[in-house]
Parts: sequence; C-alpha cells; structure tokens
Amino acid sequence: METPSQFPAATLDQNPLAKGAAQAIGFSQCVMAMRRTMATTPAGWLLVMWFCWGRVPQHLILLWLGLATVLWLVGMGALQQVVRQGTLAHLHTRHVMTAAALDGGGWGLIPLLLMGHNPTLDALLVAVLCGVTAVNAQIYLTYLRGFYVQVGTQLAIYLVGLARLAHQPSALDYAVGYTVFIGLMLYYMFPVAQRLLDGIGLQLANASLADQLRVALKVEQHDASTDALTGQGNRRALDALLRRQMEIAEQTGQAFSVLMLDIDFFKKINDAHGHSVGDEVLRAFALRVREHLRQGDVCARYGGEEFVVVLPGAPLPKALEVAERVRHSIAHTPLLTTPLLNATVSIGAATLVAGQALEDLLQAADAAMYAAKRGGRNKVSSF
Ligand code: GH3
Ligand code: MG
Ligand code: MG
Repeated sequence: METPSQFPAATLDQNPLAKGAAQAIGFSQCVMAMRRTMATTPAGWLLVMWFCWGRVPQHLILLWLGLATVLWLVGMGALQQVVRQGTLAHLHTRHVMTAAALDGGGWGLIPLLLMGHNPTLDALLVAVLCGVTAVNAQIYLTYLRGFYVQVGTQLAIYLVGLARLAHQPSALDYAVGYTVFIGLMLYYMFPVAQRLLDGIGLQLANASLADQLRVALKVEQHDASTDALTGQGNRRALDALLRRQMEIAEQTGQAFSVLMLDIDFFKKINDAHGHSVGDEVLRAFALRVREHLRQGDVCARYGGEEFVVVLPGAPLPKALEVAERVRHSIAHTPLLTTPLLNATVSIGAATLVAGQALEDLLQAADAAMYAAKRGGRNKVSSF
C-alpha cells in the first residue's frame, strides 16, 4: 500500500510565471536534444540497410533511403533555423512540430516500403522501430507534444503499411505489439515529463526568490547604515567606520582625523522658515560638505544639525585645510534650498593620537567645535 507522503506534491500551478518559463526552457532543451539525436539517425539507417540487404529488392531499399534522406534534410533544416533564431517556444512551435512529424514519417516509411518481404526481417524492423520510439521518448520528455506528433506520424504510417500486408498472419501481432509498446511509453512518459518540468520551474522560482532576497538584503543593509533625511551615513555606519579606522591605525600606524561640524544658529533657520525648510537645509548642507571630500572620506550625520567627517590617512594640517574649505564654501555660497539660504558652520578638528580611545577622539573634536562656537562661530578650531 502506498504510504502518504509527508510533503505535498511539488507543483507549479500556483506559479504561472515559473511554469511558463519552465515550458520555454523545456522546449529549447527538446530542440537541442532533437538536433543531437537526428544527427545520429544515419547510423540507424545503416542498421536497417544491413538487415534488409538481400531480403528486400534493392530498388525499394534505395527508394526508402532517398525518401528518408529528403525528409531528414528538411527536418534538420527546420531545426537549424529554430536554433539560429534563438529557439523561442511562442515562435517556433510549428517548425519543431514539422521536424518531429518528418522524423516520424522517415521511420514510418520502413513498414511501408521494407516490410512484408521476409517474416524474420519484419520482426527485426519492428524491434528497430520500438528502439527508435524509445530513443525519442527521452528526447521529447521536456516537450511531450512533439512526441505525440512524432510517434503519431510513425504509428499512422506503420498501420497503413501493415494494412497493405493484412493478408500476412503476423501483421496483427506486429500492429498490436507496436501499438501497446507506444501506449505504455506514453503512459510512463507523462508523469516523468511533468516531474522534469516541475523541477526546472522550481529551480527558476528558487533562483528568482534568491535574487529578490539578495536585493532586499542590499536595500536593508543600505537603509540600516544611511540617514534617511540626508542620505549620508548614520551614527551606526559612523561607529563601524571609526572602529575600522582604529584597527587600521593600530595595525599600520596610519593616522586619521575627524571633523565635528555644527550648523550655527540652526534653530533660527527652523524658526524663521519652518521645519521642512530646515530639513532642506540639512540635506543641502550635507551635499555641500560632500563636494569637498575625497573618495574614501566619509560624512555621517551625528545627530540633529551635527555631522562628523572622517578623513582616513589625513594628519591634522590636512584636516584643518579640508575644514576651512568647507567652512568657507558654506559661508560664502548660499545653500541650494528654496529660498536660497545663507548659513555658517563651526568645525572642530582632531587627529588620533597614539593610544587614544575612540570616545576621547570624538570628545576632542567636539570640544574643538565648541571652542569655535565660543570664538564667535563660523570658525575652524583644534587643540
Ligand atoms: P548653535 O549655533 O549654538 O549650534 O545654535 P543652534 O540653533 O544651531 O543649536 P541648537 O542646539 O540650539 O538647535 C539645534 C536645532 O536643530 C534644534 C532642533 O529643533 C533642530 N533640529 C534637530 N534635528 C532636526 C531635523 O532633523 N530637522 C530640522 N528641521 N531641525 C532639526
Ligand atoms: Mg547642535
Ligand atoms: Mg547648531
């Protein structure tokens, strides 16, 4: 007795996109398999000729070979064209069906032209046709419609050929045997083909899910380290970067500096123009600061209207130079807000000294910034 599976049967019925894509891939796999297998068809012809030689009139063997070759060439030509054009299921169904019918037709000529001359030969030829059907079964597993056409054509011509030989006692045996063989083949192929297509579809669905997750993760990672208002780094990103810079400093002795920037009288801007213009000022201010930084320098929003700039590899004179450039630019060029607004900034600079803790470095920059405020604002200061 069959034990019920604890897993529900995998099916793509709820995922029409993956199902359609799986069918398209199955179609293309079938075309490639058809081309590869049809290339070996002449080997099958040699076998048939070897069986028939001396048992069938030569002119019939040559007629069969000629007709089979013509059908084979046209079928191969159709497949070549399909492959050249990119094997698209919605464009090439008819080409592939035609190639399948021609292939089935070529083999179907065997009973029509070569059977009925010798009972032993007839048995061998039926065995060859069963072999051909079995080989075709695996080619068309990913495109069953092609198989129906291929064996349908083969079977139809086979039955016509046998009807011609109806007077022979073995004709009915062959017809029944061959038809039962094809029937069983179809019966077993259907679930196997279904599983194959489901497998392809599930792989596609998994791949697209993995892509979506990767994108979502990237977005999350970006959001988690970005200040939503200004698009600059947030406190979390700043902490991570500073810790990394401390490690580099410990390992390589490479210095780095930080600037603490605080917009002067920002409260007045808010009071005079409203909070949303204040937000605009924060964004424009951050962009302006960035303009004066090199790649590798980082600007992060420390909180409110305070920003921290990290300058890897910069000693204090370099940090003061950058700070002065920023201060000058803010003070002399209006921020790109509506309306255009003038602002000033006070900046404290500090460079890491050997053995200094991260908190002490930030405190030094903060203290320097407050010194700049006390010194009249719109100033750069350091200790
Ligand atoms: P100072 O020159 O001493 O720095 O004066 P200030 O007005 O800039 O400093 P204060 O700390 O008194 O005011 C900071 C203001 O920044 C107060 C707060 O409402 C405003 N602020 C903080 N975060 C935001 C924000 O995200 N958007 C806006 N529009 N305003 C903010
Ligand atoms: Mg402040
Ligand atoms: Mg301020």
